[in-house]
Amino acid sequence: MKLFKKIITLMLVMTFAVGAFVSDYSTVEAAKKKTVKQKDIVVVLDPGHDSVHHGFQAYNLDEATINLYIAYYCKNELERYNGVKVYMTRYGFECPYGANPDSASGCLSARVDYAKKLKADFYVSIHNDYDADVDPNVSGCKVIIPNPNYRPDLCVAGYNMASSILTQLTATGLKIDDWKMCPNGTGIVTRDSAGGKYPDGSAKDYYAVINKTKSNGMPGIIIEHAYVTNKADRENHLSTVEQYQQLGVADATAIANYYGLKLK
Ligand SMILES: [Zn+2]
Repeated sequence: MKLFKKIITLMLVMTFAVGAFVSDYSTVEAAKKKTVKQKDIVVVLDPGHDSVHHGFQAYNLDEATINLYIAYYCKNELERYNGVKVYMTRYGFECPYGANPDSASGCLSARVDYAKKLKADFYVSIHNDYDADVDPNVSGCKVIIPNPNYRPDLCVAGYNMASSILTQLTATGLKIDDWKMCPNGTGIVTRDSAGGKYPDGSAKDYYAVINKTKSNGMPGIIIEHAYVTNKADRENHLSTVEQYQQLGVADATAIANYYGLKLK
């Protein structure tokens, strides 16, 4: 019986010792983790178009200018969160990479190169729409995401970010655009190039900023916020600085939610 008691006591002492060691070790590890700074998420916002390639110019509204406003408001809002660095592919009206009046392609490539240099985690291209048939009934928001080819993980990232964005944009009163080019009812669409291929032979994404970001290993999306050719979209979302701010804040909130960022 005495021996038994001794063994029990020894076991208890050992348990305590091991427990103390483990908790000491955990404390040290936790302290170590605190001193290793987590890498900030890098988001590159791309205000679509510029002073040479304007996008739409209609109803006294200029898409390149509206996109720039939305991007600035998005950047300001996103910078209220911890753990994120936000850059823009242009901060002024001109293409900062040398505008070629005959083609936007060089500027689009240079924008993606800029994001690559920054090791961007996400490339978010900010646009607004003009219905090619000037159909006044076409309205609402959609997000064009990478197709599932070549880098399916970037398609998944694009899909999840797009869901987050559409949640916020529809909360501003915008409808979902069931885009007639690629209708599926969800407002989250992909569009394939007719002839272009990725290195594995699969169809490239149609839009340059999507196929170029994908080729550089980054998820890239295009947000089409609203239609200038629709009266309600134009008057309620694209006409005042306050409306641009609302769209920029919606985009920022969506990006912050996607990454689970916390306000400073
Ligand atoms: Zn555009």
